[in-house]
Amino acid sequence: MRKINVLFMQSQDYFGADSLVHSLLMRHFNRTSVTVYAACNAGSRQKESASLKALSGIEQLNLRPTYFGPSINHTSKREILAQAIPGGLATLASLTSLAQYIRKHSIDVIHCTEKPRDAFYGLLLARLTGARCVIHIHVKAENWISPLVQWAMRHADALVGVSQFVADSIVAMGYPANKTHAVLNSLDLNGWRADVDGSGVRQEYGVAPSTPLLAIVSRLFYWKGHVELLRALGQVKATHPDFKLLIVGADDPRGMPGRGSFTAELKALSAELGLNEHVIFTGFRQDVPQVMAACDIYAMPSFEEPFGMVYLEAMAMRKPVIALDNGGAREVIEHGKSGLLSQPQDIDQLAANIRTLLDSPTLRVEMGAYGRQQVEQFFTPQRMAHEMERIYRSILGLPQEVAKDIALALQ
Ligand code: UDP
Repeated sequence: MRKINVLFMQSQDYFGADSLVHSLLMRHFNRTSVTVYAACNAGSRQKESASLKALSGIEQLNLRPTYFGPSINHTSKREILAQAIPGGLATLASLTSLAQYIRKHSIDVIHCTEKPRDAFYGLLLARLTGARCVIHIHVKAENWISPLVQWAMRHADALVGVSQFVADSIVAMGYPANKTHAVLNSLDLNGWRADVDGSGVRQEYGVAPSTPLLAIVSRLFYWKGHVELLRALGQVKATHPDFKLLIVGADDPRGMPGRGSFTAELKALSAELGLNEHVIFTGFRQDVPQVMAACDIYAMPSFEEPFGMVYLEAMAMRKPVIALDNGGAREVIEHGKSGLLSQPQDIDQLAANIRTLLDSPTLRVEMGAYGRQQVEQFFTPQRMAHEMERIYRSILGLPQEVAKDIALALQ
């Protein structure tokens, strides 16, 4: 079978949720059929980038520290020129050298996120070198996406959404359905052992072992559903006075330009709804597995969540999930099996779903067990890497690996 050479573009210094998904691909491609390269933001002379640090732990990855120049996330030509001129020559030299590297290693596919430097430079490099370009999209596709990225999307060989919801949004923007695919994200269960101990988190916040504990873990960002969750809990407390909610995460400065602190808004709402005794704001925490282990219910009624890695994290920790029946969430959580879903804006049903789980520890255990099984059996990095390899083979006009397909289907 012909081996494929794939190069990942990791232009960002910051190692976010999208970088994590790509790193799982880099780690889990079958090395007998794919050789993996990554051009990764090198950081500065003083400090290597968070991305380089994270990727350097991956075995059998050909990692190439690269200078990607200044950000090009701009909407006007004037902004693009203002950024391009100062860093232009150095960026051009760096990308020229990356093109030589791509030719030298016979890279077949350049795999990018929808971040502007990944997608725009990735497409240019593909066109210069004859490689194919795949843009892996982690957000709902809408018109706010930079024109440079939209141009790259028009010319890419394949567009991959992290859910069918994202793939549909790409097609709804006018991109051809026959080059648009959905590959659902996955979770590496290392670090998400179901027997992690959450008692320390409960002790830290003074939550008794017998008190039902809900948690929402995310950037504090309007669309994640904190407001709706608090409003629903305002109803729930009339019938269920004994519960606590951990609001885990920090304000997302990009999330609410000109609106001030979302944490402050949520604290005010919590007071207005008489929930102060129930709600605990923890700020950003590194120990999400322990937080998940501590809670009984994961509740995040996020609006149009593209996928929601954190739902997989909750499921991995055997927690039933409360979410909305929209966006990518419905592809991750099965209503009645791994959690309970409600329609956006239906606060009464959201409250009813929470009550159902508060009332039945048995249902919580059953749903938690089903969620864990789904993560173990379906949301695996191996499945994700296999599906992505099939897309590569299809755009390269190479035969698929039939035997492995059959083996996977039989699992
Ligand atoms: N997260 C974390 N600590 C926090 C809040 C969030 O480590 O205090 C992590 C969370 O565990 C998840 C990620 O941030 O892995 C958020 O990813 P998700 O895809 O759910 O949301 P996004 O931020 O990409 O919209």
